Amino acid sequence: MGHSKKHRGMKSSTGWDVPPPEALRAPAGFDLAAFDRHSTPGWSHGRGKAEKLVAHHAGELSDLQERLFAEGRSGGSRSVLLVLQGMDTAGKGGIVRHVVGLVDPQGVAHRSFGVPTPEEARHHYLWRVRRSLPRPGYIGVFDRSHYEDVLVVRVDELVPKKEWEKRYDEINRFEERLVESGTSIVKVALLVSPEEQKKRLLERLDRPDKYWKYNPGDVDTREKWPAYQEAYQAVLDRTNTEAAPWHAVPADRKWFARLAVSELLLDALRRLDLGWPPADFDVDAERERLRAT
Ligand code: ADP
Repeated sequence: MGHSKKHRGMKSSTGWDVPPPEALRAPAGFDLAAFDRHSTPGWSHGRGKAEKLVAHHAGELSDLQERLFAEGRSGGSRSVLLVLQGMDTAGKGGIVRHVVGLVDPQGVAHRSFGVPTPEEARHHYLWRVRRSLPRPGYIGVFDRSHYEDVLVVRVDELVPKKEWEKRYDEINRFEERLVESGTSIVKVALLVSPEEQKKRLLERLDRPDKYWKYNPGDVDTREKWPAYQEAYQAVLDRTNTEAAPWHAVPADRKWFARLAVSELLLDALRRLDLGWPPADFDVDAERERLRAT
């Protein structure tokens, strides 16, 4: 890599061939059917080095998270929202445990979105989402999200087509306003192959310690795989905006997905250029007062 790519060169010391946000961003015209879910875009060093790098990121991630939290406590308005979407077994929970788990849980606002409760169902679909947004200073994590309202809802026709059709634009406007108000959104589609999903589901049946994760309904969802892929393709086509772009993360290798998401989260935090809030008191005077006690 030449000197003209000095900054990239700096990043390449961490092992990536291409900066991860660039390697993982879903390009315009992204073709989901052609996407290799076993690949490791931008990364050619295998598992061991990837795991070391994730561990290495822990320090910087927690430092930046603490700065963000401090800023929020000092009147700042910024926050980060990580949106995780993926089919069953794609590894959303593992990302939360292994990547988000690297930072202080007190600064994380985690929310998973399941079938709407009766109360949620009485409201607009974005109602429960708005109530779950990270407050200033927090890293919000959505395990599933408002995208379910154009995924499962579309596939299972839970509302008429003319209803869900309107939602793509509505979601774009919603996210754009969110970004304007100071939330950096990191959208991640964790893309697992149908073969790998089958393996992971079968493993759940082979292991008593995994039964609790098995849901017979997952097989019904799996049987609708092509309809889900079509719905995911529509999401990637219609909600891949400048304000809140999608990242396509191959999820057949868990170690890669974890490395990828740790990099994307780190990138979002780095771009905030976070400092430490200045003292809103007279440091010298306070030191004197304490000395006198
Ligand atoms: P998981 O199966 O991921 O462990 P849950 O059991 O809490 O998590 O719920 C996930 C299920 O909820 C998924 O099948 C998902 O499709 C469904 N779901 C999420 N949002 C909605 C929605 N808006 N409408 C209908 N179903 C939804």
